[in-house]
Amino acid sequence: MSAVPVPDPDVTKKSKRIILMGDIPSPVNPPIGCNFNTRCPVATDRCYVEEPPYEELVPGHFVACHYADQNLK
Ligand code: SF4
Repeated sequence: MSAVPVPDPDVTKKSKRIILMGDIPSPVNPPIGCNFNTRCPVATDRCYVEEPPYEELVPGHFVACHYADQNLK
């Protein structure tokens, strides 16, 4: 989400860009659990065993993350 451009230079100067680390998963042999778990900075044990469902979090916005709803608070 930090890569999403914001059309306000004051906001852009204050924002912190998150640089993803880790290996890009193979699309031929994706990891077990969440496909993003090799690069996610907040992955938990659950992310390595259980694939998150793709669901509509708010009308018109879909996510596949076990913890996406925690960022709405
Ligand atoms: S389910 Fe969410 S928290 Fe877990 S690895 Fe995937 S994106 Fe990260």
